[in-house]
Amino acid sequence: MVISNNLNRIKNILSGDYTAKTKVIVGHTKKHENHIEGDIWIEDGKEWTIQNGITTSVSKLSNARKESIIPLCCPKCSKSLKTPADKLCWKYSKICTDCYIAEDTYKMATGELNKENARKKKDIVIEYMNNMKVQFDEYIASQNEGTFVTEAGDIEDWNSSMSKDKLTEIFNNKILELEKYIETL
Ligand SMILES: [Zn+2]
Repeated sequence: MVISNNLNRIKNILSGDYTAKTKVIVGHTKKHENHIEGDIWIEDGKEWTIQNGITTSVSKLSNARKESIIPLCCPKCSKSLKTPADKLCWKYSKICTDCYIAEDTYKMATGELNKENARKKKDIVIEYMNNMKVQFDEYIASQNEGTFVTEAGDIEDWNSSMSKDKLTEIFNNKILELEKYIETL
């Protein structure tokens, strides 16, 4: 039996492990082989990209993920964003390391930094929750047909030992818990 990442993620949220690495589940076929991480291209009238090794349509990405696609240059100083440090910096700050250090020093001096970190944490948890909802809905929908499309584009048969209604009930309760947790952030 194939243990799917999809299933593991559902298990993670059911067990309250909100910090486990999340991925966007996609239903696609194997035809994007000539593209690499971060590429954006148009196929079948849709925009596609590869994030964390997973091909997905850009429209399916949450806004936070769309923003994580790395541009060629820093929008602030036009310096190329090609070093690993700049790429990492872009992910969290949407500017290059030089600009980030300059801004960070300023924010630290004005006390703005702590407030901003708290906001980012909340955004990450909200994004996680929204991704889980999409993943769960897709998972449940795939259960109707008794099969689902994996991230690699393969169709797998998977029989749940839990009914869809029961699973949905548990999932919805977990989402409520998560929403309460978000309110405390
Ligand atoms: Zn810059």
